[in-house]
Amino acid sequence: MLNLIFFGPPGVGKGTQAARVAKYYDLVHVSTGDILREEIKLETELGLKVKDIIASGELVPDEFLIEVLENTCSKHPGAKGFVFDGFPRTLRQAEALDELMKRQDCKIAKVISLEVPEDELLRRLVNRAIEQGRTDDTAEVIKNRLIVYQKHTKPLIDYYKRKNIFIEVPGVGTIGSIFASLCKVIENH
Ligand code: ADP
Repeated sequence: MLNLIFFGPPGVGKGTQAARVAKYYDLVHVSTGDILREEIKLETELGLKVKDIIASGELVPDEFLIEVLENTCSKHPGAKGFVFDGFPRTLRQAEALDELMKRQDCKIAKVISLEVPEDELLRRLVNRAIEQGRTDDTAEVIKNRLIVYQKHTKPLIDYYKRKNIFIEVPGVGTIGSIFASLCKVIENH
């Protein structure tokens, strides 16, 4: 199995590249943001619970995410691997993912961090707000999401550095050139 995590702040291009990588290597793309937005659209019990949290830019509670993780992975028993995008976002989520991997006798091969300067990040998020009209892409909420990232998610860098699986890849350039750098990193296990 090849399991990868795409790591980085909002707007860094994780979703775009994770989808491409998953398709190219025939892996299952797990975007927790997309899964939660779909739950909201379908007005499921979970969707109704998380709607306001997401709109405010805060994190959805870990227990919900851990359930989403378990459900999603159990739906793909024969998968060649998973590309996690937007997950884990807290230490507790990272530990839950490690436990799941252990239970299935596999591991995370690499945590790939896309690196983009902050002014470029903000520019991309503002553009996405215009293009997609997401409720969490307003200036105020974007600011909050970046603060939440610094506080809860950034500490995971050390967690994965200690495991020697954290790799930084420049996230500026064309979508194709970034994808090419990612393939090099992925194939160089
Ligand atoms: P982005 O692409 O900007 O990083 P996502 O689409 O991944 O954003 O996530 C949007 C929102 O969904 C988050 O701001 C958060 O409220 C919620 N969410 C997604 N994944 C998680 C997670 N792993 N833990 C907690 N909340 C999450």
